[in-house]
Amino acid sequence: MIAYPVTKAQLEALIEAEVPGWLQKAATRTSGFRQKGYYEESSSIWSEVKVIYMRLQGDCKCAYCERKLEAIDFGKIEQDVEHFRPKGGVRAWKLPKALKDQGIMATAVPDEDRGYFLLPYHPFNYSAACKPCNSALKKDCFPIAGQYDLTGDDPAKLTKEKPFLICPVGDFDDAPEDLIRFHGVSPQPVAASGHNRERALVTIDFFKLDDEAKRKNLLRERVFVIIGLHPQLEKAADGATAKAKAEAQAVVDGFTSSNSPHTNCARSFRELFQSDRAEAKAVFDGACRLITSIS
Ligand SMILES: [Zn+2]
Repeated sequence: MIAYPVTKAQLEALIEAEVPGWLQKAATRTSGFRQKGYYEESSSIWSEVKVIYMRLQGDCKCAYCERKLEAIDFGKIEQDVEHFRPKGGVRAWKLPKALKDQGIMATAVPDEDRGYFLLPYHPFNYSAACKPCNSALKKDCFPIAGQYDLTGDDPAKLTKEKPFLICPVGDFDDAPEDLIRFHGVSPQPVAASGHNRERALVTIDFFKLDDEAKRKNLLRERVFVIIGLHPQLEKAADGATAKAKAEAQAVVDGFTSSNSPHTNCARSFRELFQSDRAEAKAVFDGACRLITSIS
């Protein structure tokens, strides 16, 4: 995961330009939910703004797993509009024993027949996510360490809930790459302790970002990144001519661009190369061995 920074005003301007009048319709619907005290409607309009998030997120990447999905026209079908805070009800997420053993405790979900009913149409409550991340894994779960506030109407003011998951779109949450970095193909928490470490561990487990069996494609694609990147990093550092170095650097810049798949993995590997070339070579060799064993 990486951050896709955008202010609320910028997001609203993008929405108004894409679908004039959408924000007003969204406000009308939200005031209806406010009057009812829960979310209910016969049809929704958030799919109309999906393309904005697809563009924002590195030109059609999943917000959570950083897989690159197809471009807008055909990619819309394989991306969901993901509600960060669930709109209709909060489903309990079973904290794995391995995380419990590390002292992580999640707050019990509210015993209420409603979700974050004022946020179904908040621009900061959306991202575009692939179906494995959204439909299979996230569903209506939203594990937190603080107290649930289902009446909140502004995600930027709900940080006291202490969510475990990291919101990649916006300017109000920590940048995912400040909490999660990669060693080779494997995501790791940055912080040695505290809530930031717990957020990283839960997010990695929640989206199965390090599950070599269930998310084999993630592992395979990160292996490709490392195998492709390492020779270019070497050339950019040691190339025979300035031209050769510049050409290699352009490729490195491409691999580490926010528009490329698995940017966090690529940037983490670039940092490793810069700080410990022997370890980077060992990771590269390991990736080369993996490519022959991944089915
Ligand atoms: Zn995904």
